[in-house]
Amino acid sequence: VALGRDQRAAMAVCGRCGTVEAASPWPWRCRCRGLWRPQVGPFDPAAVIAGERSVWRYRAMLSLGDGPAVSLGEGGTPLQPANLDGVPVQLKLEYLQPTGSYKDRGMAVLVTALAAAGVTACVEDSSGNAGASLAAYAAHAGIQARLFVPQATPTTVLRQQRAHGAVVDRVAATRHEAAARAQAACGDGVAYASHVFSPFFLLGTMTLAFEVWEQLGRRVPDRLVLPVGHGGLLLGAYHGFTALQLAGLADRLPRLIAVQAAACAPLEAAFRRGEAGVAAAPPGPLGPTAARGVAVAHPPRGAEVLAAVRATGGAVVAVDEGEIRRAQASCARAGWYVEPTGAVAAAGLGRLVAGRSAPPESELTVVALTGTGLKE
Ligand SMILES: [Zn+2]
Repeated sequence: VALGRDQRAAMAVCGRCGTVEAASPWPWRCRCRGLWRPQVGPFDPAAVIAGERSVWRYRAMLSLGDGPAVSLGEGGTPLQPANLDGVPVQLKLEYLQPTGSYKDRGMAVLVTALAAAGVTACVEDSSGNAGASLAAYAAHAGIQARLFVPQATPTTVLRQQRAHGAVVDRVAATRHEAAARAQAACGDGVAYASHVFSPFFLLGTMTLAFEVWEQLGRRVPDRLVLPVGHGGLLLGAYHGFTALQLAGLADRLPRLIAVQAAACAPLEAAFRRGEAGVAAAPPGPLGPTAARGVAVAHPPRGAEVLAAVRATGGAVVAVDEGEIRRAQASCARAGWYVEPTGAVAAAGLGRLVAGRSAPPESELTVVALTGTGLKE
């Protein structure tokens, strides 16, 4: 990675063999086929850039050198008090980002790293939002992007991806097949700009934790409720709160409540059975779900997600299609227009309430609304 002057590089550690290397677009996974995780150090409050409101406020924690940031103004999302299902919560409005989803946090950092490494072409697979986000950031950086999406990707999202100049391949029948096609197309100078595999993406989503901590007056919440498919937001948040704890700025981690669509809930099944990882075969029949963004049958970072959830005393819960639709409708009637995936965390909170495990009023609960309803 071409880094700026006298800067420490972001480091990545292989989750399988423990190799530690400077994070780089190449190779996209370790030679042992393990996945790179970001190696996160303590949060440094003195290095926060006052007056900067985007994710670049925490630039020193991203260890990307001092080259130009590829930024569209991502991050800095509101934390808004609300009442959901009778529970006072703080809503983290992640859908208010340049391309309409939380993915922009990760893509800004990932594409900055690609640009610093001199990458001119990249590929990615996505159910929609990650591809749209990559298309926008790659366009801004002058990098050619080719996206592999499943056939079911909505026209509005395809239009968004193509408007930014991405070449879109929608031949794949499934999300899994789209990933295989992208992996076959990278190499020979074409980077795999994966929101699933790249440790840079998780460095970007880590900033959510820093923002929440600052917005709560330097406190960690008691619970953080998030939609989980691949776990990109949950893992980033976990690393971010861990960085705060390593710095002695938090005495504990928030309980991470990972919410999946019941139609495709491999992490929920593994959590319920006490398993360390996700079974190779999908847990039972996979039904269709309106929450396309979390319909991931084989999450490569599944074991990492399960370990993070357990380390925080959290839980993985599944919500059915009716619960997702009702949560989306109640968010809309309260004024927040989110897509079904964006309402999955709100549905998860409703599930906790219905199951009589609602967070007590004395607890501080943050619920992430992750994708705008305008994409549907
Ligand atoms: Zn390895």
